[in-house]
Amino acid sequence: MVDSKTCTWLERARTRLTNRWQSLPHGILITGPEMIGKSVLAFDLARIMLCETDQNESGCGTCASCQLVEQSVHPDLHVVTSEASENFLPAGFVRHAERYWLEKKSTSTRKPSEQVGVDSIRALNQNLSATANLGARKVVIFPKADQLNHNAANALLKLLEEPTRDTFIMLVTSAAHRLPATIRSRCIHFSVKGPSSSVMATWLQDEKGVDPKTAAQLSETGLGPFVITDFIEKGVDQTLLELLGSMRDGEPVVSGFETLKRFFEALGDEFVLELLQRQFLKQVRKNAGAGVLSENDTKTMDRFIEIGEVRESLRTTIDSQLALEDMMIRIQS
Ligand SMILES: [Zn+2]
Repeated sequence: MVDSKTCTWLERARTRLTNRWQSLPHGILITGPEMIGKSVLAFDLARIMLCETDQNESGCGTCASCQLVEQSVHPDLHVVTSEASENFLPAGFVRHAERYWLEKKSTSTRKPSEQVGVDSIRALNQNLSATANLGARKVVIFPKADQLNHNAANALLKLLEEPTRDTFIMLVTSAAHRLPATIRSRCIHFSVKGPSSSVMATWLQDEKGVDPKTAAQLSETGLGPFVITDFIEKGVDQTLLELLGSMRDGEPVVSGFETLKRFFEALGDEFVLELLQRQFLKQVRKNAGAGVLSENDTKTMDRFIEIGEVRESLRTTIDSQLALEDMMIRIQS
């Protein structure tokens, strides 16, 4: 589990969330850039809400409730997220989330779902309707609330309109616009800011032991600290810098099939595709802004759309390898 106390950029948001938390309404929306630690904050707040000693700073760490949260088995802490998020969840979340992965229990060959479906919300509703198992309160966290599909969002709306007693529901997202306005309007909003690049560089050096030069380069990427930490832990941070370097200024240089394949393997398909797409868009925007859109830009837009289609198909098809290879050949033509 991340020690969020070291994440100085979360301090302000933490103070706002934890001060007088007893007077918070039952719907809480936490927004901000991707992978900066919003869910970690939600988890910290949950710990305080569930602790038997009712303190504001953090859980006491010793009561039965705090112990159960630490062991990831607290019956009144509900974490609802898609199965596909398993790899992105802080360790303490996974076991809490498992009880809402209803389909995973029945089939093992299926691709993990990217969405939260209505059945999970129904199960949640049922569990919340029972009295709190331990203390007085129940806490629900949606670490990626934008994953709710249409029916699930409707079911959640009902829950927000007629909440069960002493229940706090935290919706965490970097894409609040994807949530229905009806849901957003039922929540109090907290926006969380990511670290500045200098704060991030210091943090990477102090907490992750990264050398100053690499820390400075990584913190200039504009990526969230926990994306970067993940790559450092996997030993592919230099590959990340290499990919970003090859994209800098102008045409994304995708030099050869093998290089691209290496990026995919080291950094993950979805991540590389997203970066490529962003880079293509940036390029067209820049030229459009300067009033010099050319035939090349039309081609770049086609590539942008094409990558979007591949990203979409990766979510649904089994044969993602084929879709990727087809795309690699085409974007280099
Ligand atoms: Zn406690």
